[in-house]
Amino acid sequence: MESFDYDLFVIGAGSGGVRAGRIAASHGARVAMAEEFRVGGTCVIRGCVPKKLLVYASHFAHELHDAPGFGWTIEGARFDWNALRDFVASDVDRLERAYTSTLDNNKVDHFHERATVAAPHTVRLASGRKITAKHMLIAVGAWPVMPEFPGNEHAITSNEVFHLPALPARVVIQGAGYIALEFAGIFNALGSKVTVVNRSDQILRSYDIDLRNRLLTMMQMRGIEFRFQNPITGIVKQADGSLFVSTAQGYPIEADAVLVATGRKPKTPGLGLEEVGVQLGANGEIIVDEYGQTSVAGIHAVGDVTDRVQLTPVAIREGHAFADTVFGGKPRKTSYDAIPSAVFSQPPLAAVGLTEVEARAQYGEVKVFTSDFRPMKNMFAKVAERGFYKLVVDGESDRVLGVHMIGPEAPEVLQAAAIAVKAGLTKADFDATMALHPSMAEELVLMR
Ligand code: NDP
Repeated sequence: MESFDYDLFVIGAGSGGVRAGRIAASHGARVAMAEEFRVGGTCVIRGCVPKKLLVYASHFAHELHDAPGFGWTIEGARFDWNALRDFVASDVDRLERAYTSTLDNNKVDHFHERATVAAPHTVRLASGRKITAKHMLIAVGAWPVMPEFPGNEHAITSNEVFHLPALPARVVIQGAGYIALEFAGIFNALGSKVTVVNRSDQILRSYDIDLRNRLLTMMQMRGIEFRFQNPITGIVKQADGSLFVSTAQGYPIEADAVLVATGRKPKTPGLGLEEVGVQLGANGEIIVDEYGQTSVAGIHAVGDVTDRVQLTPVAIREGHAFADTVFGGKPRKTSYDAIPSAVFSQPPLAAVGLTEVEARAQYGEVKVFTSDFRPMKNMFAKVAERGFYKLVVDGESDRVLGVHMIGPEAPEVLQAAAIAVKAGLTKADFDATMALHPSMAEELVLMR
């Protein structure tokens, strides 16, 4: 019988890789992992976690603004970007230590260097050392796409945005997806002048059109400028260090920082995958079956590198299912139905299930219920932002096919609603549920 150094070698210590390694080890596998950057991966180190801390920080700006309406006098309030940035960085350090302890506690050996695939059962570390494993899991994630234009070296991506030396007074953001709109909200609230430029005239393509329209209006009301069909064509750094940004429609914009957020591509280049016969798709993604198996026996992949749904909880589920399938004797697939998602824009939006347009295309007869309300919290706010919830219901079975929300705390409310959609509950079930008053969430059961 062939013998290997390990039962499993995981390349990439992000959300999917760490979960897979930990669970495989708990099933008795001898596991090793390599990570070229920091343990924790995009979500923990330069994604969801530090981003959410910045979102929380920026909420204080709105709260302070609205506080006088509730009787508070706030004098001398000041914001210090460096203090926030350093606090966020220290929390990321703490989490990295926690993730590393998880590996240690589960007896997963970890190598802090780049690993590539040398042969179907052999990994080559940057140091030159070769390690064999019966199974290999590729969980290297994705990487921001930087469009080609002169001067793009002056633009930053979400990788660098957490480390800015100062809060930029003027920010241009290219893209109108998750990252662009989340950072537009953060910088706007913290006091930067924000201009969003996008190649099309759409924001957040995958979300329900009513939510997108509402969000665009509210972001504009908060002072964020949008310029559509107007991607960046060049950036010139000026003598004073500021950036002169040219755009397709010829409106130059002066900025102190340019953030590009135009999608993320699987980080497969240079990994040696094609050389051993692993099939990649057009975007460089690893093609896998529903168990994470690639075209080469013994090589598996989970998470963003497979370019299915680029969300942390999905990578975690895929990693767990892979480990249970291969090492736990419990074959498990990941279900991609009714995955809840949120954009931590300001206000945030969140959704699960089908949009109205998708439901009409798939089900024909569809009933739509909406609630357009002014959250009580906004009663004394100077900007009268309204919340909007929408239920999309199958006209025949009465099943709730989609829940879409924009308004304060929408992601917190949506997670519970996602249980109902996943469970296949009907509009009658929603109606039969007593309202929790006074709350915004009660709108969910009061739509008639
Ligand atoms: P998105 O796919 O959300 O948005 C990409 C944006 O960039 C779109 O507005 C798109 O324009 C534009 N774009 C795409 N390619 C180009 C190009 N070549 N030139 C110019 N513009 C382009 O990507 P993000 O980078 O914002 O986020 C990446 C992924 O990370 C998301 O898909 C999401 O899965 C994940 N993420 C999730 C978060 C969350 O769950 N809250 C937060 C942050 C990231 P158009 O639509 O006009 O084509």
